[in-house]
Amino acid sequence: MSKIIVLMGAPGAGKGTQARLIHERLGLPQISTGDILRALREAEEIHTTQAEGRLVSDDVVIGVVRDRTARDDCRNGYILDGFPRTLTQAKMLEDLALEQEGHHVHSRDVPVDVLVKRIIGRRTCPVCGEIYNIYFKPPKTDEVCDQHPGVKLKIRPDDSEEKIRVRFQTYETETVPLTDYYQESNRLHRVDGEQQTERIYREIEPIVANGAHGAA
Ligand code: AMP
Repeated sequence: MSKIIVLMGAPGAGKGTQARLIHERLGLPQISTGDILRALREAEEIHTTQAEGRLVSDDVVIGVVRDRTARDDCRNGYILDGFPRTLTQAKMLEDLALEQEGHHVHSRDVPVDVLVKRIIGRRTCPVCGEIYNIYFKPPKTDEVCDQHPGVKLKIRPDDSEEKIRVRFQTYETETVPLTDYYQESNRLHRVDGEQQTERIYREIEPIVANGAHGAA
């Protein structure tokens, strides 16, 4: 039986970090719609929308998820990081998951000033995808990946203070209502996203490994 894990949470809540850990330790593929959209070729309009912090259209994102989850490595399940973000996307996921057992994890309650620091401080290695933060998890050498000494870390174009405001607003209006949607069907697990990365992971792991009733 396959498992679908949805990681929800405000920008900067740590969805990507947890998705990487689940992938490394439990072997489920991480599907980050933000990363896939950013890597699309000849997609100027999409990249502009991303850089502005607005949502890409449901049709486009749904197409991306449909294609990616059809691949062989998703047979036993997958982690969705950044999808669904709207009710339409959530309903599409229901269709996709009809024969699958879905579990949902929501990371929450990270104070806004921490989220902002997490986003402004975020640096990513373009080679291995490792996520650093100049405030909370700095690399050994400034702006350089620990594993790839010659490689300068990257800053996402939408990780600026100005764009963060738009992204938070979009999150509040479009995505927060999804928590009710999942709560009503008893699939929402709340996790305190302000804890240390490993503590959060320890809360999430049994939910992922044991199923919907594995953790509070
Ligand atoms: P993320 O890397 O998850 O923070 O996503 C970065 C940006 O990609 C978002 O601000 C949106 O512009 C776009 N994006 C990612 N996932 C979605 C989605 N599920 N629906 C619409 N837009 C998305």
